[in-house]
Order: sequence, then structure tokens, then C-alpha cells
Amino acid sequence: MEKTGGKGLSLARRLYSSRILGVTLGLVCVSAAMFPLDPAPWVWCLMLFNGLFWPHLAYQWARRSRAPYHAEHRNLLVDAFLGGFWIAAMQFNPLPSATTISMMAMNNVAIGGLRFLLAGTAAQILGVGVGLQIFAPVFIPATSPLQLYACLPLLCFYPLVLGWICFRQAHTLGRQKRELLALSRTDSLTGLLNHGTWKDQLEVEFQRCKRQQKGGAIALIDIDHFKAINDTYGHVAGDIVLRQLGKMLKQHLRATDVAGRYGGDEFCVILPDLPLNRAAAVMEALRDRFATLCYEHNPTLKVGLSIGLAAFDPGHADATLWLDDADHALYEAKTSGRNRVICSSDDKAPRALVDSA
Ligand code: GH3
Ligand code: MG
Repeated sequence: MEKTGGKGLSLARRLYSSRILGVTLGLVCVSAAMFPLDPAPWVWCLMLFNGLFWPHLAYQWARRSRAPYHAEHRNLLVDAFLGGFWIAAMQFNPLPSATTISMMAMNNVAIGGLRFLLAGTAAQILGVGVGLQIFAPVFIPATSPLQLYACLPLLCFYPLVLGWICFRQAHTLGRQKRELLALSRTDSLTGLLNHGTWKDQLEVEFQRCKRQQKGGAIALIDIDHFKAINDTYGHVAGDIVLRQLGKMLKQHLRATDVAGRYGGDEFCVILPDLPLNRAAAVMEALRDRFATLCYEHNPTLKVGLSIGLAAFDPGHADATLWLDDADHALYEAKTSGRNRVICSSDDKAPRALVDSA
């Protein structure tokens, strides 16, 4: 019910102003059609109530309801019923009747699609039936010029406002969709790409390297003894270290480099168009800078990074083999003492480019 409440309240708010406009302009249109028929005072009162008070009553009714969404749907059915009632009261005067029918149909389709169009039409037919019983109308086949002019404001302004509301809705939905897409691609802790999105990017880069016969490198970065950092300083401090590494990757890599969080304390980077030796120099600088940063923050905090690097190999059938090369290099960095950068060489025997242990 909570969900329906939020949705219903926003629907009620959206409909409030459009209903005020619709029934006020509708009052002008219906009054012009009713005036020559010399209606009874209670009919004028009902017309004024519908045109001036109903939107406020409907809004308060929906707002105070326990289920505003359903209350607003009921209000829309009341709108449709009253529309049908006035059509019969106007003795089916062609232009005001057609204007009322089309504006209500447009409103109902915009709010609830076909289902609501049908429900609204049924309510409208019921309203016509009640009107027939009360007024026993005879068909008026002609619309006078005054009645025509009285219909014009409703015909011109209401579609404009409804179109604007629909446009704003579509615009907001589009923005929310983009925001959700960005969220679904991002690692929430570091703001880097998440595992799945980074691997998609790796596939794209692999295909680009193949097509354009270009080189490039990828790096897998793992924080040394991160579990011990968590155990010693707590998980909050561990999170800060992870966030800091993410920040450093964003700040110190090129705009074309693609950094992601592979998972846990492992990060991954695509370095397009960079020879392996230059990629290793970049990673070595990063490793050094990160150790310094952590030391400056807390001299007892010694944080090493083990980094495995692999160059693009045109002989590989797919991107996962490229990733495997980097993974083997990372394994080598871990097993040969940690806190170092290891490159996967052409003969696939990983070799240390920089040993900083
Ligand atoms: P190694 O040097 O071999 O990499 O050892 P390690 O301790 O870094 O590696 P291990 O894989 O054993 O530990 C990784 C730890 O990272 C375990 C897990 O609790 C922690 N971890 C994973 N995700 C998060 C996170 O989002 N925040 C924090 N604070 N810790 C995390
Ligand atoms: Mg680790």
C-alpha cells in the first residue's frame, strides 16, 4: 500500500492542475451550450460545482485517502460520468459534445491506456443514461457561433497542457532510465565500473585491437594482505583503502584507460594503445604512489599492490585468454613476494619488470 500511496499521490498532484484547467474551460463550453436551454437553478449549481469546486474536492479526496492511487482512478471515473451527464444535458449539441468526448478520451488514454479508455467510456455512457433520465433531451443538430467560440479555449489549451505533461513524464522517465543504467554499471563503493561492465569493455577493446591491429595492455591489481588490513584496522578502514585506490585509478590514468573493480580487493584496468613496458611503468608509478599515500595517511599502514600485466596477443581466440595472461602474471607477482609489477611475456612465462619487494 505504501508503494501505491506514493504513486497515487504523485498522480493526484499531476492531475490536480490539469483537472482545474480542463473543467474550468469545460465550464465555459458547457455553459454556452446550456444557456439557451434555460436550465433549472440546481443544474447551474451543479455546473458551477463541477467547474469550480470539483478539482479541489477530488484532490483532497485522493490526498486524504488510504489508497490515493485508487481514489484518483475513482475521481477519473467521476470526471467521465459527469462528462456523459453534461453531454445529455446539452441535448447532444454536436461541437460541445464532441469536444467533451475527445478531451476525456485523450485524458483517459494518456493516464491509463486502453483499459482506462474503456472504463472511462463505460462511466461516460452511464452519465449519458442518467442525463437522459433527468433531462429527456431532444437532439440539437446545430452548434451556434457563440457555442463554437466557447469550445475553442478547451480545444486549443487542454491538448497543449496534456501534451506538455506527457512530455515532462517521458523526459523524467528517460533521465531516470539513464541514471539506473549508470548505477547498474558502477561499483557502488569505488565508483569504478563493476566486474560485468569492465569485462564487456575488455571484449570491445579486444575486438578493436584485432580489427585495427593495435596493441594494448590490461592490468589486474590486487591489494596485498588486505584481509589483515581489515582485521587490524576494521572494515571501515578497509573500505577507505579500496575507495582511495579507486580514486587514484580515476585520477592518475588517462581518460582513455578503463578502470574497474574486479571484486573484493582486486581491480582491473584496460590501457589501450600502450606498449607493455610503458604500461608497466605506469603501474609501477601507481604502486609506489599508493604505498606513499597510505603511509602518509597512517605510518603504520603499509599497503602493497601486486600487479599482473598482459599485452594484447593477436594469436588469442578471445578476450578471456588475454585476461588469463594477466591473471597468471598476478599469480606470479603474489607467489614471488608481492608488492611488485609482473608482465606476462610473449613466451607466456611471466617475468618481473620491476621488483620492489
Ligand atoms: P593476498 O595478499 O593474497 O591478496 O591476501 P588478501 O588478504 O588480500 O586476500 P584475500 O582474498 O584472502 O582477502 C581479501 C579480503 O577482502 C577478504 C574480504 O573480507 C575483503 N573484502 C572483500 N570485499 C570487501 C569490501 O568491499 N570491503 C572491505 N573492507 N573488505 C572487503
Ligand atoms: Mg589481496
